[in-house]
Amino acid sequence: MRVWLFFRTAFLDKIKITQKMKKLTTIFLLAVLGSTYGQDVFTEQDTLRGSITPERAWWDLNYYHLNIEVKPDDKFITGSNTIRYKVLEESQTLQVDLQPPLKIDKITQDGKVLKFDTNGNAHFVSLIKTQIKGAFNEIIVHYSGKPKEAARAPWDGGFSWKKDSNGKHFVATSCQGLGASVWWPNKDHMYDEVDSMTISVKVPKGLMNVSNGRLRKVDKDTNTYHWFVANPINNYGVNVNIGDYVHFGEHYKGEKGLLDMDYYVLRKNLKKAKEHFKDAPKMMKAFEYWFGPYPFYEDSFKLVEVPYLGMEHQSSVTYGNQFKKGYLGRDLSKTGWGLKFDFIIIHEAGHEWFANNITYRDIADMWIHEGFTAYSENLFLDYHYGNEAASAYVIGTRGNIRNDKPIIGKYDVNNEGSGDMYYKGANMLHTLRQVIDDDEKWREILRGLNKEFYHQTVTTEQIENYLCTKIDMDPSTFFDQYLRSTMIPVLEYERNGNTIKYRYTAIVKGFELPIRVFVDETEKWLKPTSKWKVETFKGDLSSFEVDPNFYIEVKKIR
Ligand SMILES: [Zn+2]
Repeated sequence: MRVWLFFRTAFLDKIKITQKMKKLTTIFLLAVLGSTYGQDVFTEQDTLRGSITPERAWWDLNYYHLNIEVKPDDKFITGSNTIRYKVLEESQTLQVDLQPPLKIDKITQDGKVLKFDTNGNAHFVSLIKTQIKGAFNEIIVHYSGKPKEAARAPWDGGFSWKKDSNGKHFVATSCQGLGASVWWPNKDHMYDEVDSMTISVKVPKGLMNVSNGRLRKVDKDTNTYHWFVANPINNYGVNVNIGDYVHFGEHYKGEKGLLDMDYYVLRKNLKKAKEHFKDAPKMMKAFEYWFGPYPFYEDSFKLVEVPYLGMEHQSSVTYGNQFKKGYLGRDLSKTGWGLKFDFIIIHEAGHEWFANNITYRDIADMWIHEGFTAYSENLFLDYHYGNEAASAYVIGTRGNIRNDKPIIGKYDVNNEGSGDMYYKGANMLHTLRQVIDDDEKWREILRGLNKEFYHQTVTTEQIENYLCTKIDMDPSTFFDQYLRSTMIPVLEYERNGNTIKYRYTAIVKGFELPIRVFVDETEKWLKPTSKWKVETFKGDLSSFEVDPNFYIEVKKIR
């Protein structure tokens, strides 16, 4: 997903929740008030967008062919999407999503024009042909219009219509959260990924389009670029990037053999990029080590320059970090370690494992993308700079945690949880690594996740259950604490002679988290609960210290 949420506030989040609220001032104010008390207001449109409606559930996506022409001079697009699907249960009404102001011109099946009813962004198509269980059918949705323009890409979404310094068009799409239906018609819910996809984009002469997967063909006459994605892909991962691109690349020797790594940048940035993108193979080295093979060898890996900060578009990660280290030159951890790498290359490419390989079914579980990927930043450092650098970085990022609301959002209404999904999520995982206390085992777990849920959409519960089977503690309350509450466990302790009396407060019922403590630099494990316990130590207790790698608060009572 989207990168870190610096410019977002809870207030702006609410604006995003529903477009309708902009018009309805009263409801809007209620929503803002509601948000203050942790309640959200949702509309029918949110349910149509965010749930597996009956008109979605009966068919399984198989293949898309998105075939469009982009006219940057008019900020206009036109074309079609062919949707091939398998009939799971017999039904005659099919939901397809497309957001205004884009308009559906026509929907056909086997050459016959179909009727459809529109409810906001959702269109309910009445199929004529009898849908027989097990059959593969296609509809073609023709559409056109001036798509929503992204004002703050990638935090909102739509088309970014920009120009490069030579005055040439520089155009890109982004759409996480808002949904891919902001620019193309599709089944706009994350649970069902298409198995493969062709993206054909006609652009003005002198410009190139870079999308996901591999470039199969260029129609020179029409200047149409045909890209093919051989792997399952989520909707928001699909993208169009148009510019006066130049290309360079390399063959990376990876865990699954030779991986094509290709880079597309604006002509004027070629020299800079050749130097700066050396972080890309370094990233691949670290992440294949920690997470397992890059999940899309067949589709290659690409970095594509865009006129916004960046996004994890599958196999064509988009890049706009101005060829600077850190996050636009800043260190999110304030430790100095964040300036050792280009944040966008590392973070957005980390999403190839957590977002594109393992994908949330519902955006309420977006921490699966952002928690693990924010965590991946310190694993990159761990691989190249060692354990201490990694720890310092992830602990440093705690400064970004707000504990404003739970990390998990509301299900079935297209609702994200707190922005804490990034660095609270990362610190939760870092804490788990401490509990396991065996880095080889931890690495096996991270690689195991990418194997177990390879190319799948998942829920938090599935991730939790997987971890439960691998870790010798009951992690269920652990996840309740960090993902479903805003409380940070407080370890209270008292020193009496050679004993420490300790307990947890601010915890969910049943919460147990063993912690590592030191006295005179000698390590000992404590198992605090909500009840006071006493532990006797040898040595000078004035040196008592809780390992700061555990994300808890420590409070000395006396
Ligand atoms: Zn991200």
